Order: sequence, then structure tokens, then C-alpha cells
Amino acid sequence: MEENGKVRIGFYALTSCYGCQLQFAMMDEILQLLPNAEIVCWYMLERDSKEIEPVDIAFIEGSVSTEEEVELVKKIRENAKTVVAVGSCAVHGGVQSWEKDKSLDELWKTVYGDGTVKFQPKMAEPVEKYIKVDYKIYGCPPEKKDFVYAIGTLLIGSWPEDIDYPVCLECRLNGNSCVLLEKGEPCLGPVTRAGCNARCPAYGIACIGCRGAIGYDVAWFDSLARVFREKGLTKEEILERMKIFNAHNPKLEEMVNKIFEGVKE
Ligand code: SF4
Ligand code: SF4
Ligand code: SF4
Repeated sequence: MEENGKVRIGFYALTSCYGCQLQFAMMDEILQLLPNAEIVCWYMLERDSKEIEPVDIAFIEGSVSTEEEVELVKKIRENAKTVVAVGSCAVHGGVQSWEKDKSLDELWKTVYGDGTVKFQPKMAEPVEKYIKVDYKIYGCPPEKKDFVYAIGTLLIGSWPEDIDYPVCLECRLNGNSCVLLEKGEPCLGPVTRAGCNARCPAYGIACIGCRGAIGYDVAWFDSLARVFREKGLTKEEILERMKIFNAHNPKLEEMVNKIFEGVKE
């Protein structure tokens, strides 16, 4: 904390689309922070603010996708009292780790051909793989209210609570029609952490799980894969769908393989 009593905040970015920072930047509430906080680093607003300084709270956006970023997150951790992973990229590796089981060379060639870069790329991974993360803000991008709640709670020296119920709950409370049951669409709402007010099903679109799984071990994953199978999805289609934001789930492939044991596709 500064001598003037202000909380020092840094907002850092790894490999990302900068969408989480944009969401943060678009919050009117940010002005209310200023009497109590000093933003010492914010990549999106200050191109030159690359120096890592000691902060009370470090927000990190993006997945760890280069060797340089491995060193960067370690340095951020050494200089921060509290580290918050922001958004699906930082929390789960993001959509860029969707095909993580393919070789990096193959993926690289598909996207960039023979293009070369100055950095050493690696498969996208969550921040938590390299450093201790104290709190996570979920979503792609997170809801503005998630930022307000997390910052407000951390500023008063407390810890925000995690949501432990699925998108379906908010969907039912809002009276949306169910795209899974009524249209047979592969909605991931039953296994995905709520908090977005069932944003996609409210528009008749199936959830793709951007807020991440409530927990990899919950039986709901297995049950949902069975429902998808009954709706006619193949093993590959189910895996593809469930991996979008859950590619780092260590048991996903084993679980889907199991429910297809002895089933003729
Ligand atoms: S979580 Fe989504 S919005 Fe945030 S940086 Fe990653 S891709 Fe962009
Ligand atoms: S539409 Fe999706 S989120 Fe809503 S109730 Fe059905 S399965 Fe759950
Ligand atoms: S409904 Fe699913 S995909 Fe859509 S915002 Fe919510 S968690 Fe993300």
C-alpha cells in the first residue's frame, strides 16, 4: 500500500485478445476506485508500463503461451501480495488451448504457415500452472459486475465468494426455454459456472461454457455427455464441444471414451 493509504493495482496481459482489459476499462465504476487505489500498471492504457513494480493486487489476463510469459508471471507473483487471474484465458488457458492435444508444430503451421517469430511459443496454459493464484474472475470476458464485486471485496480486505451452481439455475429462474431439451442443442449450461445470468440461452443460443466448469469431478459432466450421446452427437463431437473451454480437464477424454464403450456409432 502507498504511504497515502491507496491500494496499488497492476493489470497485466499475457497472450490474449485484451477483451478482459477492455471490459474493465469500460466500467464507469472505475472512477470510484481512484480515491482509494492507484493503478501503477495497465498494459492496455499505457503502452510503456511494462516494468513490474510491487503492487497489492495484480490482475492477470491471458494464457501463458511463450517461454517469456512463464518468467513474466513469476515476476508478477514475486511483486504482488494478491494475484487475480482474469478471464477464461488466464483461468483455463482459454479457447487457444482447445486443440492442446495436437502438436504445437502442426497447429503453428496451420495458422502461420512458414511464418517465423522472435519469441519461443508453447501450448497455451492457465496461469495457475506456474504460480499461485489467489482468486479467479471467470468468463470470456467476465461480466462487469464480477470485476466490481471482486475489486470491492478485495479493497476492504476480504475475499470474494465463488459461484458453485450452474448456468441452468439462472436459465430456469429467468424462464428461458431450454435449447437442450427443446431443440436438442449441445448446451453446456448444466456443467458451467453461473454468473452470466444465462446470457446465451436467453437469446436461444446454447452455452459453450466460457465461465468454465463448476468442477471437473462432478457427475454432471458424465450425465451431460450421455444426454449429448442420446441426442445423436458422436464421441468426437462431444469431445470437441466440451473441450472449447475445458481442454485442461484431465479426465474429459477418459470419461467420454467410457460412456461410448460398447456403443456402435
Ligand atoms: S478471456 Fe476472452 S475476452 Fe478475456 S482475453 Fe481471453 S479471449 Fe479475450
Ligand atoms: S438452455 Fe442450457 S442452460 Fe438453460 S436450462 Fe437448458 S441446458 Fe440449462
Ligand atoms: S451462457 Fe455460457 S457461454 Fe454464454 S456467457 Fe454464460 S457461461 Fe459463457
